Amino acid sequence: MLNISLLRINGMESKISSGDEASGCSVQFKNNKKVQKETARISVNGTLIGGPEIIIIAGPCAVESIEQLAETAGYVKKSGAKILRGGAFKPRSSPYNFQGLGEEGLKMLQIISQETGLPVVTEVMDTRQVELVSRYAAMLQVGSRNMQNYPLLKEVGKTRKPVLLKRGMMATIEEFLLAAEYILNQGNDQVVLCERGIRTFETSTRNTLDLSAVPMLKSLTHLPVIVDPSHGTGLRWMVPTMAKAAIAAGADGLIMEVHYKPEEALCDGYQSLDPDEFDQLMVDLQRIALAIDRNIALPQ
Ligand code: PEP
Ligand code: MN
Repeated sequence: MLNISLLRINGMESKISSGDEASGCSVQFKNNKKVQKETARISVNGTLIGGPEIIIIAGPCAVESIEQLAETAGYVKKSGAKILRGGAFKPRSSPYNFQGLGEEGLKMLQIISQETGLPVVTEVMDTRQVELVSRYAAMLQVGSRNMQNYPLLKEVGKTRKPVLLKRGMMATIEEFLLAAEYILNQGNDQVVLCERGIRTFETSTRNTLDLSAVPMLKSLTHLPVIVDPSHGTGLRWMVPTMAKAAIAAGADGLIMEVHYKPEEALCDGYQSLDPDEFDQLMVDLQRIALAIDRNIALPQ
């Protein structure tokens, strides 16, 4: 292939190739900072991820009821979140745990999105759900467990919806970028990468939040990079600290779990902020953002 970009990740260097075959660990990327120097701006119903403004995505792990979603969405909007999250199809480790409300949950997301004006991101777990989820959501989330589900990556790549691609919990940066290529290769260039923690030998946190992935990804790709400190730590008290660290490290945004009553959450309550904690965090993030010449919405 002519004029294809070639990235040599292992050597921590990148170069543009005019057509030699990839060798060793070198892989072909469209998704390459050398080809496109500016961070791409991905529009989620008009909210731009990848611009000077740091975008905060917040909401419950799972949609549980219209009341839970409405209350939580009201709080996060007031605190400055620009996009609402909430799973309708949940990838749970145990088949005996709450699996999400499915299409009923999607309908609730749509209603609350219309009421609040917040665009919605929600997970799609299966190729057979892409069409359905696309009807309701402004942005499609491909979760950590599905980062290497190649048929799913291709299917979301065929849509023209922005995609939030979460890093596989066992995926290298190279595998992560190659997963993004599957989406880009279908003609969908609206991809946002999300570092959400990787599995290491460490067990004191749910995952090890790899914040070094942020500058690494930002140096290798033009795609915006956001961080999920909720799944990245699994500890509510640690989320604000790692959220601030992620912004300082150069993330273009954050996705965080917030629940109006975390102690009653059906999923991931122990890592969900309550509305007051989230509000305070938004105030604190402002100071970090200003220190690195970026801006972020303040609580109203
Ligand atoms: C989620 O964001 O709800 C989720 C399941 O995250 P992850 O895929 O990163 O585990
Ligand atoms: Mn969760």
